[in-house]
Amino acid sequence: MKPIYFDHAATTPLDKRVLETMMPYFTDIFGNANSQHMFGREAIKGVDTARDTIAKLINCKPSEIYFTSGGTEADNWVLKGVADAYKEKGKHIIITKIEHAAMLETARALEKKGFEVSYASPTTDGIITPEEIESLIRPDTILIGCMFANNEIGTIQPIKEIVEVAKKHKILTFTDAVQAAGVIKLDVKELGVDFMSFSAHKFYGPKGIGALYVKNGVKIATMMTGGHQERTKRGGTTNVPAVIGFAKAFELANEELEENAKYVTMLRDRFIDGILKEVPFVRLNGHRTKRLPANADFSFEYIEGESILFSLDLAGIAVSSGSACSSGSLDPSHVLLAIGVPVEIAHGSIRFTFGKHNTIEEVDYAIKSVKEIVERLRALSPLFNAKDGEIKNV
Ligand SMILES: *Cc1c(COP(=O)(O)O)cnc(C)c1O
Repeated sequence: MKPIYFDHAATTPLDKRVLETMMPYFTDIFGNANSQHMFGREAIKGVDTARDTIAKLINCKPSEIYFTSGGTEADNWVLKGVADAYKEKGKHIIITKIEHAAMLETARALEKKGFEVSYASPTTDGIITPEEIESLIRPDTILIGCMFANNEIGTIQPIKEIVEVAKKHKILTFTDAVQAAGVIKLDVKELGVDFMSFSAHKFYGPKGIGALYVKNGVKIATMMTGGHQERTKRGGTTNVPAVIGFAKAFELANEELEENAKYVTMLRDRFIDGILKEVPFVRLNGHRTKRLPANADFSFEYIEGESILFSLDLAGIAVSSGSACSSGSLDPSHVLLAIGVPVEIAHGSIRFTFGKHNTIEEVDYAIKSVKEIVERLRALSPLFNAKDGEIKNV
């Protein structure tokens, strides 16, 4: 059997139609988009069209889109750029406890520079409420950041309501939409946010390209000094093929959004139902319905997530324990701890994220494999065998 990929929240394969669209920009249309001759003009034409496409899809002006090297750069830029541009107004920022490392680590860096950050807590099912956000607002708050959808447990946040609260207090808002883009229809005007971040490789586009939406009239410090690219806010030679690929992937994802969401939700629900039925002592993390179509995140009691991950890898199934960014460390996921999962249970967590190329057969094989692996690991687990107060020989 071909290896099975259930880790689409970490990255997705490039759509072949996207690759085809990108190809000429590696060779024939190779010009520097900043050059003033015909080679440059051809390249900039491609970039302009791509920017128009993306802007239309999220309902903003092309001049409000700034290309970056990905989601991490866009997240860094918002926090640092707003902090710098508005520091005379205030030095307090609100984000949430369940943000991506790109946000959390940047917030920590700002704290070291004299900014204060408040971290909003989620409910036990992983939702950030507008009330929680409002309770943290201070007269010197300059920015509220809340991700659109969580990369680990898939929960979708009430961004529109959070923005309404922020507007009441005249505070700027940012949402990291990296997991939501191409999966949920995004309209920046309807949402009312001031900043939104994107990354193409999460929706079958190329790696190393993303964008930041910056609402016209809102200030942000320059990300990268250098050339005049991105209206002087983010210098550096434009990665033209990647920009072209971003736009094409985003266009396809939006065109096929409902169809893909329906298909992937069917796979996910089949998987969730199968696991809950076949495996005892397991909990589904995050709200049952207010979650991304692709996400199923489970904690398996009495065993280690890493052991499950390695056994699944041997069985040809690729998954993630926690998020790709925290794996490699032994700390349990900050997201699971924030929603109140006890440390020892958080250690036994696995994220399954499905994609448009997965099949029902793969899902059924995975249910069977997980069941067998969990049984085998628990048979070897002193904790599991001692759970009823009796020590069995293992
Ligand atoms: C993947 C991800 C990022 C980082 O994006 P890169 O393009 O990989 O740097 C940021 N935020 C969230 C929610 C993500 O899932």
